[in-house]
Amino acid sequence: MSGFVTVPEPVQVPGLTHLHTGKVRDLYATASGDLVMVASDRISAFDWVLPTEIPGKGRLLTQLSLWWFERLGDLVPNHVVSDTPPEGAPADWAGRTLVCERLDMVPVECVARGYLAGSGLAEYSVDRTVCGVPLPEGLTDGSELPEPIFTPAVKAAVGDPPEPIFTPAVKAAVGDHDENVSFDVVAAEHGERLATELREITLRVYGRGRDVARERGVILADTKFEFGRDSSGALVLADEVFTPDSSRYWPADEWSPGHAQPSFDKQVLRDWLTSGDSGWDRASETPPPELPDDVVERTLSRYKEIHERLTGTKPVL
Ligand code: ATP
Ligand code: MG
Repeated sequence: MSGFVTVPEPVQVPGLTHLHTGKVRDLYATASGDLVMVASDRISAFDWVLPTEIPGKGRLLTQLSLWWFERLGDLVPNHVVSDTPPEGAPADWAGRTLVCERLDMVPVECVARGYLAGSGLAEYSVDRTVCGVPLPEGLTDGSELPEPIFTPAVKAAVGDPPEPIFTPAVKAAVGDHDENVSFDVVAAEHGERLATELREITLRVYGRGRDVARERGVILADTKFEFGRDSSGALVLADEVFTPDSSRYWPADEWSPGHAQPSFDKQVLRDWLTSGDSGWDRASETPPPELPDDVVERTLSRYKEIHERLTGTKPVL
């Protein structure tokens, strides 16, 4: 979750009800009850939605998510109904809109990790476990785990639809963040059966993603899925899948455990923001500045590179 420098205004479309403005996506409901997810070109870093957009990012991520959904169809049903925007939608929604079946969401962020990084690394450093899963000694930042693990998280503050959080200060005040929990916590809250099912599907789908990415020279270090139930009660893969926004991707040829791995998509941006060039103090509550054109261009080309490496095709932007 992030702070917005400028809160985006929802677009008014006849027949659609605006539900939610997320960090990067806007959500609407159709009159027939479907969910419309519109990916914007917004980008976030260090808990801020930046004031400058990355033109084409929304289309690229939508196409990548769709590409993955199609490649996972034999493992799990998904919520996508159509990639054609509803009638009356602005022309520029084409290519970045998914109409989805609105599900009864399971309030668990289903995270799979094949490598140690982020909050997994932080937990491991304390007691050699992540979400209650014991791990061997001797692992370091970026290490591959002996086998992928299920490390669920829950949102500390939930709402339906969730309210956008506008600044880090507000976020801190309401405590809106993901909190890692153990399998047992999920089982206690939702039953052993559902917890086991979530773990099993999460690891199965992550395994497919990791293998496909690996063949293409990309490490899929970890990822987050969201599941919901359809009207028949079946578990369905929702939200977005294996986008750089929900996954940690590293170029395999630059992988070297022992320090933070370069992020495939956001490294250029993070490096610039934390360099003297940006003039921004990350520790302050000051919003980050507009991005210079070359940072926008280099960031977009990283997104294009990951799309091309994975799918073998150029995105239609
Ligand atoms: P963040 O940018 O940190 O992810 P966010 O979760 O508030 O913030 P979005 O991810 O854009 O913003 O919001 C998408 C919302 O839609 C989430 O609450 C997600 O659980 C929900 N969602 C995704 N797919 C479905 C679905 N098929 N049915 C109902 N809700 C869904
Ligand atoms: Mg989300």
